Amino acid sequence: MMARPPLNRRLDGLGTTIFAEMSALAAATGAINLGQGFPDTDGPESVREAAVRALRDGRGNQYPPGTGVPELRTAVAAHQRRFYGLDFDPDTEVLVTAGATEAIAAAMLALLEPGDEVVAFEPFYDSYAACIAMAGAVRVPLTLRAPDFRPDLDALRAAVTPRTRLLLLNSPHNPTGMVLTRAELTTIAELAVERDLLVVTDEVYEHLVFDGEHTPLISLPGMHDRTVSISSAGKTFSFTGWKVGWVTGSRELVAAVRTTKQFLTYVASGPFQYAVAEALALPDTYYAAFREDLRTKRDLLAAGLTDAGFQVYAPQGTYFITTDIADLAPGVDALTFCRELPEKCGVVAVPNSVFYDHPDAGRTQVRYAFCKREDVLTEAASRLRKAFTG
Ligand code: PMP
Ligand code: GLN
Repeated sequence: MMARPPLNRRLDGLGTTIFAEMSALAAATGAINLGQGFPDTDGPESVREAAVRALRDGRGNQYPPGTGVPELRTAVAAHQRRFYGLDFDPDTEVLVTAGATEAIAAAMLALLEPGDEVVAFEPFYDSYAACIAMAGAVRVPLTLRAPDFRPDLDALRAAVTPRTRLLLLNSPHNPTGMVLTRAELTTIAELAVERDLLVVTDEVYEHLVFDGEHTPLISLPGMHDRTVSISSAGKTFSFTGWKVGWVTGSRELVAAVRTTKQFLTYVASGPFQYAVAEALALPDTYYAAFREDLRTKRDLLAAGLTDAGFQVYAPQGTYFITTDIADLAPGVDALTFCRELPEKCGVVAVPNSVFYDHPDAGRTQVRYAFCKREDVLTEAASRLRKAFTG
């Protein structure tokens, strides 16, 4: 036995991610996996074929340029112009990363000094806590509360101290499905300007907004030079295993993130970068059909969960539904519930409680992913109904 635990103290308690734990449980029990957020159907055939072509033609099989292949950087810039009217120079203001996960890590490592405070909404996507910790910074949670999970903007203002360096925002928000309104974003932007804060925005669900619309914070006044915008192909094109993400922002911020990114992976996903460049150029009908498909699935699963007795918090965006089990399983916490669910009825879900610094706020919240085939969602709902309504 070593005298001292091998994992450094900053990462104490971060162990195995809940997604890995719950996917392993699904594999071991053969349960339907509505835990980890990945689709059970691949994205467009034309995009998959584009990856095969790139691989066969020898494009991207050797190290691509450190900033990403020019075709993809140009396509990202064109996407930002087409959907949001934003102009970025593909050579200096766009950076390709190994998924949004690497972009978040690289941004935290590039922009934070040890001891800096980072304000972020809780429940947080789990890599946020880890990346803030790896940078030696301190996370300051701003709790989003049921039923609508809207941020308390006065509390946000109060959470900013002279040590606050950065706001880490996620909208559409995983796991709650909350989508920040333009008015909320405007207030946040004004605060960032007033207090001279950097903002990192995780927008991986930008094309999955069912109610309202997605507004990139970087489009608001005063934000261009202080915002790092992050997105990824995984969710929008249903290829989560390809790990192609990107950062857009000012030349100075992108250069800072590039500096750390170089020493994390340097580069990744060569041939897939070419395929994602083609995917981004798909017509508007692709994006609309993708959203409408997920809207149907959201409604299907929400109705099934309601029938089974869960309190359902309908998401405005993302492909997750947060539910509350307090009435259904009195006295049971979400983690215990999720660990027992596969055995009880052959379904896997994720406990939101692990995404909180104040676990009491999410003690009875359980998240279900609905990026699955309709027959799978129907079967899962039927199993839950039988298990909980007899
Ligand atoms: N941010 C959020 C909010 C997510 O849900 C995910 C999971 N897809 C990621 C980042 C990571 O994205 P990627 O798979 O592109 O690394
Ligand atoms: N984003 C996915 C989710 O929230 C998980 C990705 C991962 O496992 N890292 O379910």
